[in-house]
Amino acid sequence: MTGLHADEIQQAVAEVVDSGWYLQGKAVQQFEQHYAQYIGTRHCIGVANGLDALTLTLRAYKEMGLLHDGDEVLVQANTFIATILAITENHLTPVFVDVAPDTLNLQTEALRQAITPKTKALMLVHLYGRCTYNEEIEALCEAHQLLLIEDNAQAHGCLHGEQRTGSLGHAACHSFYPGKNLGALGDGGAVTTNDDDLAQMIRTLANYGFSQKYVAPMQGRNSRLDEIQAAVLDVKLHHLDTENQRRIDIARTYYTYIQQKDLRLPTFMDEGNNVYHIFPVFTPHRNALQQYLSEQGIQTLIHYPIPPHQQACYREYNQLSLPVTEQLAREELSLPLNPTMTDAEVQYVVETLNAKLAI
Ligand SMILES: *Cc1c(COP(=O)(O)O)cnc(C)c1O
Repeated sequence: MTGLHADEIQQAVAEVVDSGWYLQGKAVQQFEQHYAQYIGTRHCIGVANGLDALTLTLRAYKEMGLLHDGDEVLVQANTFIATILAITENHLTPVFVDVAPDTLNLQTEALRQAITPKTKALMLVHLYGRCTYNEEIEALCEAHQLLLIEDNAQAHGCLHGEQRTGSLGHAACHSFYPGKNLGALGDGGAVTTNDDDLAQMIRTLANYGFSQKYVAPMQGRNSRLDEIQAAVLDVKLHHLDTENQRRIDIARTYYTYIQQKDLRLPTFMDEGNNVYHIFPVFTPHRNALQQYLSEQGIQTLIHYPIPPHQQACYREYNQLSLPVTEQLAREELSLPLNPTMTDAEVQYVVETLNAKLAI
């Protein structure tokens, strides 16, 4: 095994293998405790993946009588499709709200206008690792008694002032997909919350709906974080802040030295409120730029080329007009950014971009 912290991870995996206990054991309990402590919530419930964390949270609110079929859930339009799938799978109605082109935050006025008597929740996605929470959103949720659910899949360790994202609303959903800032060696996810009833309901739903062994008052499912992944995550959690700091340092270098006039960078956030899961840049000539960088040996990705409301599986929303989200999807390119990059590699990206006078 190669990569960061390989020895420590191998040791943790070996301990689980030797224990002969692979599900619902000590490693999961320990990680749940450590992660709740890290995020700053009373509860952490490990589940199978990030989509399950989102889906089970909404399902639990339905079982608790706080959400009902057809209720409207506000959500930023430029998210990864999983956020929307969790809403529609629960027979709730996503209300797509456009974002501001510079901050990538929800447009507050559009958000306000989207609220109807059926609006019951706001799903706030800290996309790209940027904290999208602010006092206006907090006030809006309070005024309209909305459930505030964070999608923290891309923002482990991110701060809002002194508080971690994942502790700002009523519940927060996390993914530990290998590529995330805190990633397992396979699938994993979690919900964090201070709500005792919600935590209990999610545990029940994730365990076949059993209130006690083999007694099922509800139709649940099986969604577990396994012992090996939990042990790996517990090791990696110790290194998360250091790795995020390296991401932030690389981002600072990009913001300081990239001088490509045809590129737009989103508003710089440098107070721990961006953990740079992804470093997005925007240009109308996105495909040409990607081609150029690829020829120079620099691999880039696109997050995401088709917004959820324009997907074929969401035909009923295809006619919506969300101009900023649609433009971002046409123009976004993700520059390489991960904590294993060397200074020389970062410098090479900067120089290669700056060497291109026009895209
Ligand atoms: C990765 C991700 C998810 C889904 O997580 P999985 O573990 O892949 O199911 C949900 N929302 C966002 C914003 C994500 O980036």
